[in-house]
Amino acid sequence: MYAVHLLGQILDVNHDSTLPPLPAKVDLAVVGAGAVGLAHAVEAHVRGLSVLVVDAAQRPAGSTARRGGHVAITTQDSTALACALASRERWLKLGREAGFGVRESGAVVVARHVDELAVLDDLVAARAGDATLLTGQEVADHAPAPDAVGGALLPLDLRVEPASALGIIADWLGGRPQAHVAWTTAAQTFDAGSGCTLLRTSRGEVVAKRVVVAVGHDVGQLFGEVGDRLLPVRRQMLRISSPLPDGGRAAERVAAGPVLVGASTLLRDSAYLHSRALGEVRERLRTRHPDLLAAEIHLTLAAQPDGSVVVGDGRAPADAPGRSEDVDELLLRETAALLGTGRPTVRSRWSATEVVRAPEPGADDPFVLTEPMPGVRTVTVADGLATTTALGLAPRMLDSLF
Ligand SMILES: Cc1cc2nc3c(=O)[nH]c(=O)nc-3n(C[C@H](O)[C@H](O)[C@H](O)COP(=O)(O)OP(=O)(O)OC[C@H]3O[C@@H](n4cnc5c(N)ncnc54)[C@H](O)[C@@H]3O)c2cc1C
Repeated sequence: MYAVHLLGQILDVNHDSTLPPLPAKVDLAVVGAGAVGLAHAVEAHVRGLSVLVVDAAQRPAGSTARRGGHVAITTQDSTALACALASRERWLKLGREAGFGVRESGAVVVARHVDELAVLDDLVAARAGDATLLTGQEVADHAPAPDAVGGALLPLDLRVEPASALGIIADWLGGRPQAHVAWTTAAQTFDAGSGCTLLRTSRGEVVAKRVVVAVGHDVGQLFGEVGDRLLPVRRQMLRISSPLPDGGRAAERVAAGPVLVGASTLLRDSAYLHSRALGEVRERLRTRHPDLLAAEIHLTLAAQPDGSVVVGDGRAPADAPGRSEDVDELLLRETAALLGTGRPTVRSRWSATEVVRAPEPGADDPFVLTEPMPGVRTVTVADGLATTTALGLAPRMLDSLF
């Protein structure tokens, strides 16, 4: 009875729109078309389920669309590593099927101090074959980093261009049978029915057997108690002109090469936490470069085909709406130091919000998964790891949902 009543309501509400109407009923409704939401929608489609994705924005505009494009497989640990490795295969397959570029670029972590090299040595030992220690000269073969004392080559890491990849995935999915993607459609409320959920959106209603809510840092607006478990953090990024002396040629070489990663990421990525040498790195930074620690500078340089370089990222001030010039200066200073160049020219600046987990006993992975009501799951990936892990997390979630 309930389902019939719901269907009546749906037909009533879904009539007045210049956009295609929402389907009346689907197996899976996904709220949010970022990396997490689309990963779940694609997995559902591959399993033969009917799927609807709704997103409040007109086109990909969330955190995923604002990042630099490094899928950082190798420096994850435990569950996140398993999901990252599974994600890798799926990124490559999806890129081929949907028609966007996934570059097997690898990444090079550059050590400019011997303590950093000791941490990388531990990583290479732990990753048996999936990471290689480099001498300073070998680092130079991959990338301009004149002060490098060594480094680590992480050949499994990938590059995608997130904003265009998301758009292409969404268009590809929306063109498949039994799959719908509705932009400009905000999820508003969720009502439990018997074995299904009525999802109300700004463009009408749909009955879904299961719902995945993947709205990143906005989850608290829909489910306040989930939002309480997350802390939003704004991060600043820059696009710079190629700072390399011979401009074009060197820039092309870097664009075709691996992502360059600075050693301050040793304090961020979970794979390094097992290294006994990490304490020395932290202590040196604490005493000599407290500004880098305070601003959480995690240097990642992703060269673009046009010769520009996307530089990520540092933490924006929490207590002010704008960005911090100091953080931008630190990013530029560290970039110049790594590449051995002068101060790069900034072409554009932006920030994006990611979430970190609020301290929680026993929580040791970036996945905040909840079931606020039967059949509805919220899936939030913290610590800036959604693009790296979501395609590997989605099969696990789908196994538990259907
Ligand atoms: C500076 C920076 C650098 C990063 N670098 C990396 C990296 O190198 N590698 C990596 O793996 N990750 C990285 N990340 C993290 C990664 O980008 C995020 O973890 C990830 O994009 C979050 O994906 P998401 O799908 O959860 O959210 P989003 O991409 O934010 O997507 C959420 C979507 O939900 C929609 N939405 C919100 N509310 C509603 C509603 N009520 N109804 C419908 N739709 C709604 C939004 O419009 C949005 O499109 C970085 C993050 C930042 C900020």
